[in-house]
Amino acid sequence: MSFQTDTIHAGVAPDKAYGAIMTPIYQSSTFVFEDIGKHRGFDYTRSGNPTRKALEDSLAALERCSCAVAVTTGMAAIATVLHLFKAGDEIIATDDCYGGTARLLKTINQHFDIKIHFISLREPSEIEAYINEKTRAIWIETPSNPLLNLIDIAAVTAIAKQHGLLSIVDNTFLSPYLQQPFSLGADIVVHSTTKYLNGHSDVVGGAVLSNSPELDEKVKFLVNTLGTCAQPFDCWLVLRGIKTLVPRMKEHERNARIVAEFLHAHPRVKRVFYPGLESHAQHELAKRQQRGFGGMVSFELDGGIAEVEHVLRSTKIFALAESLGGVESLIEHPATMSHASMGAEHRQEVGITDTVIRLSVGIEDPEDLVADLNQALS
Ligand SMILES: *Cc1c(COP(=O)(O)O)cnc(C)c1O
Repeated sequence: MSFQTDTIHAGVAPDKAYGAIMTPIYQSSTFVFEDIGKHRGFDYTRSGNPTRKALEDSLAALERCSCAVAVTTGMAAIATVLHLFKAGDEIIATDDCYGGTARLLKTINQHFDIKIHFISLREPSEIEAYINEKTRAIWIETPSNPLLNLIDIAAVTAIAKQHGLLSIVDNTFLSPYLQQPFSLGADIVVHSTTKYLNGHSDVVGGAVLSNSPELDEKVKFLVNTLGTCAQPFDCWLVLRGIKTLVPRMKEHERNARIVAEFLHAHPRVKRVFYPGLESHAQHELAKRQQRGFGGMVSFELDGGIAEVEHVLRSTKIFALAESLGGVESLIEHPATMSHASMGAEHRQEVGITDTVIRLSVGIEDPEDLVADLNQALS
């Protein structure tokens, strides 16, 4: 089936008891056995739940892979995957990853003797210098948050394959509609379903996806063992959100482009970060690797922190809030909000200055969004 048809139908079927077209919320911790050693597919919700299974089958269909496991948050997805590694292992990770990811990677580096090399993966030729006999994986996040830098997934996964390393891709920013990492050589994909997949800012969730019998088993074992699984009601909400993923992403992208072009032409804006603009250094890669450019736009203001604060306080539609990917537009300040946990030194190294403002462009009328930014910038 096409991607769009799968967003509506994959993983879900009319309920066997009453024919409910929407997957019921099986809010039950345990399931009655028919006889000793005989149950109807589910025994205990940490190990499996019918509502969660519907979401997992939907996600696996959308990422075109063999296995998806729904977990409590995006960070739970990342923490689960990191349990694949052991003391002495080394991981190469993109240096401008999500702040929470950077914090977790640094923590395991300190606590568990797993060495993390944070490097820019934008120049694949520079990766090999960091690979040694202890290296196990490359952690890719593209586009990056908040600077919208891109990593050539196919080029990096090819290097990983040559050296027998796992390639792990955080695909949160674009959703499976706009980017399909497995088709570019990824072994594992993680999502914060909190963002575009759910899309309605009413749940936190995550997912780990894999595409080989061996990894599928390992990930399922880890989620059941660690207890990072998602709750039935949360799964139901994400499943509901996924049904409108395609029309939402189209609107997000149309609005983001209009906003990016407006900002690009505005005299008080020094720089706009949006892969859909021809001025973006990796615009060609974006066109090749992605189906679209997504709904996130960042920009650097021409001015100091006082001007930045003025803009952050002045928007009326764009709400001052962290997170992204919901239908409503948000504005935030990476240095003190989403990327505060990264630390000032790490932010400086990757170029997240104190005057960068990040927008999650929602699906309101674009004329209203532009007018709101215009008055805030004036
Ligand atoms: C939000 C986010 C996460 C973390 O997800 P939570 O659901 O907040 O735990 C991880 N990676 C990226 C790219 C994100 O945007």
